[in-house]
Amino acid sequence: MKLIDSHAHLTFDEIANSLDDILHRSIGAGVTGWLTIGTDTEHNKKVVSIIDMYENLYGAVGIHPHYASKTTEADIELVKELAKNKKIVAIGETGLDFHYDFSKQNDQINLFEKLLQIAADCSLPVIIHSRDAFDKTMEIIDNFGSKLPKIVFHCWGGTAEQTQIVLDRGFYISFTGVVTFKNAAQTRESAKIVPLERMMLETDCPYMSPEPIRKQKINTPALMIYTAQKIAELKNMPLEKFAHQVTKTTEKFFNLPTN
Ligand SMILES: [Zn+2]
Ligand SMILES: [Zn+2]
Repeated sequence: MKLIDSHAHLTFDEIANSLDDILHRSIGAGVTGWLTIGTDTEHNKKVVSIIDMYENLYGAVGIHPHYASKTTEADIELVKELAKNKKIVAIGETGLDFHYDFSKQNDQINLFEKLLQIAADCSLPVIIHSRDAFDKTMEIIDNFGSKLPKIVFHCWGGTAEQTQIVLDRGFYISFTGVVTFKNAAQTRESAKIVPLERMMLETDCPYMSPEPIRKQKINTPALMIYTAQKIAELKNMPLEKFAHQVTKTTEKFFNLPTN
């Protein structure tokens, strides 16, 4: 079996300190490819420094909306520069987080637009983080019109109606271990309506450990197997077949080699 973790933070200390070990366990569990996602200048640099160490490891560079208010022009220039690396396959994460509002909403909007412009200029797919900001996120994306390349909403937790809006636009949806949580009936309903040609899986590790090991503090890519099992079950499909199809979708979306 071959699964790809489309959104992991392998540069965060909890994981980076034992990366070799964690990726070996991941391969043993059938999760054999990874995208490590940048969140600020420090981690964007780290992402680029580790992607050449493993064959099936790719990266994305971006700036999380949490840091919008302290982002400088130099931080944005660096994203542009690092995006030229062959193993950087997306811009992200980027978007709006009005749940925490760690940065002023206007700063978040400005930063989001700048990063979308970079994605448009270098024709890279975009990994969107959107929390309690769905309408504004869609409005900004819509303003870019056809200039934008492919879009995925990561760590999806939207309503069935929002899921349908995203699908109607031709965008993609990525699910974390949240789909296994007892109180996440809405996310399971979404998973049922997202076709596998538009679906990806992710851990968002070191956060979001799935059930039945939700209490295990540090999530790792190996644990994505529980998320895959849960959605295969919701889709009434054998795990192998499900894994094959979402992996195909992920490879196509990020233009990964299909070795
Ligand atoms: Zn996120
Ligand atoms: Zn993330």
